Amino acid sequence: DASEDVDATETLLPRPPVVTIMGHVDHGKTSLLDALRGTDVVAGEAGGITQHIGAYQVTVKSGEKITFLDTPGHEAFTEMRQRGANVTDIVVLVVAADDGLRPQTIEAINHTKAAGVPMIVAINKMDKPEANPKKVREDLLQYEVIVEEMSGDVQDVEVSAMKRTGLDDLIEKILLQAELLDLKANPDRAAEGNVIEAKLDKGRGPVATVLVRRGTLRVGDIFVIGAESGKVRALIDDKGRSVKEAQPSTPVEVLGMSGTPGAGDQLSVVENESRAREVAAYRAGVIQQKRTTATPA
Ligand code: GDP
Repeated sequence: DASEDVDATETLLPRPPVVTIMGHVDHGKTSLLDALRGTDVVAGEAGGITQHIGAYQVTVKSGEKITFLDTPGHEAFTEMRQRGANVTDIVVLVVAADDGLRPQTIEAINHTKAAGVPMIVAINKMDKPEANPKKVREDLLQYEVIVEEMSGDVQDVEVSAMKRTGLDDLIEKILLQAELLDLKANPDRAAEGNVIEAKLDKGRGPVATVLVRRGTLRVGDIFVIGAESGKVRALIDDKGRSVKEAQPSTPVEVLGMSGTPGAGDQLSVVENESRAREVAAYRAGVIQQKRTTATPA
């Protein structure tokens, strides 16, 4: 597969981190995603129309960008991984300070460790009188998550998604972690990306939210997506704006494909339509084979 090749070091440029928020139900994942989205300094300029396309990018005061996958939950994370799409660079583990570690918190820790992705612990609901962040930090030790305050190297931060406190601190820690990871991609090549979510839209036909991993995706590009192929008819960003191109770590809605792909599927830009059909047919064959081997009669 073309995705196996590696870009030369001198072609690599910094790219924004891709962050997934995980944690137990009701601990505040959705609230935190909404609160973080509210910190975007360019959202206002765009007219404040936010589209839910499965991921969004926030530009912070310094001009740096962070991409959040806004499908909270572990299923999306594991499903993407199973499909070989390790799109997440950093996991933010949300733990409600008044509720502590719960089964899905442990599950999230395990998934994160299995993926080898660094974690930042966000201790949420700090506005509540019964908040007990000390207990959260202590209990995390049992799962070998040792936060800075306990002399470990896992960053932790106290937040309230509801009162919108601690958010700048969280953003700062995400950016620090990203710096340590030295995230880079070559923006100057045929684009590759992964499907975050896809649907068949009544008016627009098949629509896929793609997170560009490397290269720059442009209107007019010919591509393969999963076992489908197409030509980019339009690109819509997370603010609902029509854009001409999307750079690495940018989520964008792609229009112009033959059918609806699945989450985690790979998009690859190819040189021409006959090549697109060839790769799509090959992938369809591989998918068929996988299904046959996966379900022994
Ligand atoms: P999710 O299931 O993890 O996505 O959790 P939600 O974001 O839906 O939040 C669950 C509940 O906790 C909702 O009623 C939220 O209003 C509440 N909640 C979320 N964050 C906070 C917070 O920082 N403080 C307080 N007091 N409540 C919060």
